[in-house]
Amino acid sequence: MNVNLSLVWLRRDLRLYDHAALHKALSLSACVQPVFVFDTDILQQFSNKQDRRLTFIARALCAIDSELKKRGGGLLLLHGRAQDIIPKLAETLGAAHIIAAEDFEPKTILRDQEVNKKTGGKLTLVKDHLIFSPTEITKDDGSAYKVFTPYSRVWRAKLSPASAAPYTIHDAGRYADFASIRQRAQAAGFAVLTPENLLAQIGYEEVALPDWPVDNARKRLADFVREKSRNYEHARDLPATHGTSRISPYLRFGLMSIREALTLAQENGGADKWINELIWREFYAAILYHFPHTPSLEFQAQFVGLPWRQDEKLLAAWKTGNTGYPIIDAAMRELLQTGWMHNRARMIVASFLTKDLLLDWRLGEAHFAQYLMDYELASNVGGWQWAASTGTDAQPWFRIFNPTLQSQKFDPRGEYIRKYVPEIAHLSDKEIHEPWAKAKPAGYPTPIVNHAAAREQALAMFKAASQQG
Ligand code: FAD
Repeated sequence: MNVNLSLVWLRRDLRLYDHAALHKALSLSACVQPVFVFDTDILQQFSNKQDRRLTFIARALCAIDSELKKRGGGLLLLHGRAQDIIPKLAETLGAAHIIAAEDFEPKTILRDQEVNKKTGGKLTLVKDHLIFSPTEITKDDGSAYKVFTPYSRVWRAKLSPASAAPYTIHDAGRYADFASIRQRAQAAGFAVLTPENLLAQIGYEEVALPDWPVDNARKRLADFVREKSRNYEHARDLPATHGTSRISPYLRFGLMSIREALTLAQENGGADKWINELIWREFYAAILYHFPHTPSLEFQAQFVGLPWRQDEKLLAAWKTGNTGYPIIDAAMRELLQTGWMHNRARMIVASFLTKDLLLDWRLGEAHFAQYLMDYELASNVGGWQWAASTGTDAQPWFRIFNPTLQSQKFDPRGEYIRKYVPEIAHLSDKEIHEPWAKAKPAGYPTPIVNHAAAREQALAMFKAASQQG
């Protein structure tokens, strides 16, 4: 065994500053080697060969590799099943430790347990992507909070300067000889990838990502906090403006440190509302951890087995942005065209799918999972179950969004709609929210459902279930 070497297994912490795993590895060993595995078990879920997230990840990895090369090391890039590769690599290189950031998704927990078992306990997990892990914020009896407000109260009360203190990295001269590591890995039969044409080596294609440059996360955050966070409470609901931070993909893959995000926001007196959103992120991570069945089952038992409609045509119209409701169509097209969707729009389209089309929220969750750059199981399931009124602390089932009123309120001048639904861009600010009210515009569908009638059906469905429950 090489007691001097620790592997730093990068997963959703794709940066080199304020890095909990790297910091821990440097504290344990004289020498460290960062490694990333394109995990074939995970890639199975990425059927689109032009998936934007793969490009985003590949670029982040290339940036890390170039930076490591400047610091005298390099990033070992591998392809295969992580739970086989990581233990074998540790053995091949004689690493004494494997350090990685904790991840609380059910499948990841199992994967990490397997790696730990195969390596005889060499895997050490450290907290990185959350300020408080799910077991740190619980009720006095150790059970999980199911409601956001008390959870957030405890979260805030527990916060101290230490909670967001950065992990300073002193890595000069501490990286393993990369040429030798690479050569040993290749000799042992690993599929070692090169940063050049990285995606082609695993069967994916590079795509353009104009909105998500990988070198701009920290600047975007700093600009947002300085210029926009004070107005966040008012601007955050308007999908036509960039009133939110748009950092979610960076947080998702760890190009940005959550501790830095929180610290910058704390230093800015007006960002309290925004900090609340960071707490929602942690709340949903905790819900997923404590209730790991919620990706497939309703959180509220009374709503398990709701008689959702099955209608491929309605689903296809929703997915492609052809429902005849302009705000819905704008949002669904924004998702397809950019890989992102504004939060208010996510709430409106999720409500529409479940309460107007009466389609199962799991179908919407799966569609978002396929396209969102910031897709994260915990937040997505949390958001979907909230909108479907089946989740913890969810939108009450009898409060149903009217898509036209939402459109008039949050996109009053129709700017968001005009951007993504050019067929009706010529309509006036008033007409654009309900193009069916006058003559039907050419090339744009009539509404696929009648909101008032659908609302009654949804109310009846939920009422029946809640009376039975
Ligand atoms: P900001 O408003 O600037 O907020 C800052 C950060 O706080 C976000 O980047 C995000 O990390 C976190 N955050 C904000 N709102 C929420 C929230 N409601 N729940 C959890 N975290 C939040 N967010 C995801 O990161 N991944 C998802 O897969 C996801 N799916 C969603 C599905 C539905 C149906 C809904 C209603 C919401 C979903 N959200 C998801 C939450 C939210 O829409 C996005 O986090 C937000 O739009 C990201 O934009 P932003 O970075 O500008 O957010």
